[in-house]
Amino acid sequence: MFPKVFTDMRTKLLAHVKRVVIKIGSGVISDENGLDSDKIANICDDVEQLRQRGFEVVLVSSAAIAAGKHVLGIKGRPQTIPLKQAAAAIGQSRLMREFKDGFHHHGLQAAQVLLTRDDLANRRRYLNARNTLMTLLEYKVIPIINENDTVVVDELRFGDNDNLSSMVTNLVEAQLLVILSDVDGLYDRDPRQHPEAQLISNVVRITPEIEKMAGNGSSPLGTGGMVTKLKAAKRATLYGAGTAIINGRNSHNLLHLFDGHELGTYFLPARDPMAARKHWIAFTKKPRGKIFLDDGAYNAVAEKGKSLLPSGISRIEGSFERGDAVRLCTLEGQEFAKGVTNYTSSELLRIQGKRTSDIAIILGYQYGDEIVHRDNLVKLETEI
Ligand code: GLU
Repeated sequence: MFPKVFTDMRTKLLAHVKRVVIKIGSGVISDENGLDSDKIANICDDVEQLRQRGFEVVLVSSAAIAAGKHVLGIKGRPQTIPLKQAAAAIGQSRLMREFKDGFHHHGLQAAQVLLTRDDLANRRRYLNARNTLMTLLEYKVIPIINENDTVVVDELRFGDNDNLSSMVTNLVEAQLLVILSDVDGLYDRDPRQHPEAQLISNVVRITPEIEKMAGNGSSPLGTGGMVTKLKAAKRATLYGAGTAIINGRNSHNLLHLFDGHELGTYFLPARDPMAARKHWIAFTKKPRGKIFLDDGAYNAVAEKGKSLLPSGISRIEGSFERGDAVRLCTLEGQEFAKGVTNYTSSELLRIQGKRTSDIAIILGYQYGDEIVHRDNLVKLETEI
């Protein structure tokens, strides 16, 4: 299916990698009875090897819930949010302890970083989280990130750690995201139903055809399935990082990957990657409202890449603050872009449809001519 030119492609691509985010799925390091200590120790050994080879490593580990649920006598996946949160509260410290022990005999230190989507959606907190992670790396400590499951409410959730790991890849400016899963990679059809299914080795671009291959299965222990992994790969590759999905249950696959072996599925970084800030706007910031543009403004923003001025706004929806993300829509309601607004919704109600020179007259102050500056605007074709 893919030409031979890919044979030593992985070695070449990996030559540019310095910092790597490794996402560890619940299905890799736990089972119905809780955490698999041997597996975690293996991963720690591999990470130590990678460190020896000069890579900086950030881990995103699932399995807090899987590590705590048996204490509550829960079989299968906990069914309610409080049960999941209680299980995570019990499991997170156990999970960290295993990693701490696994790294300890290599003389390495680990640090726990728990995040919510909200932490990364707020630019200041995003930069704070980034500084913390960069400092840990500078001090050669291994950050182990998970979603802060015990406190997070539904609308603030990353939802799954595949998603979280792709955002962390952007946050720490890693060149590679490795997703350790309990499957071998992306198949051209569901291998559980079609034994003749073929593993896809390399993906140049995530097309709708590739997306169809992911189906909608999910693993019994974690939250994500192949769909969420593909979404994560799409986000990471758009940011300019390669993404590998490999089977983490096979011992030392991680090292084999870095040795250049063609295992799992490798998604090449996008040829035309998004700047980190635009990536953050597109994927991390949650939109709070909508701005509807008249045809002229739509044309200027969508076709000519211009900033949005007040004159082109025909109406707005929702309540938002300066600095929030908003959806930009056509008059018919078709959403076509996402951007960060310089004005609040109540200010926009007063200046919509007016000339730029009227902003200061109407409001008595002005933050700038643009309602949404083109540097803070991302067209939807790149969003998922
Ligand atoms: N944060 C969850 C946990 O640690 C896992 C989420 C996921 O499976 O993606 O148990």
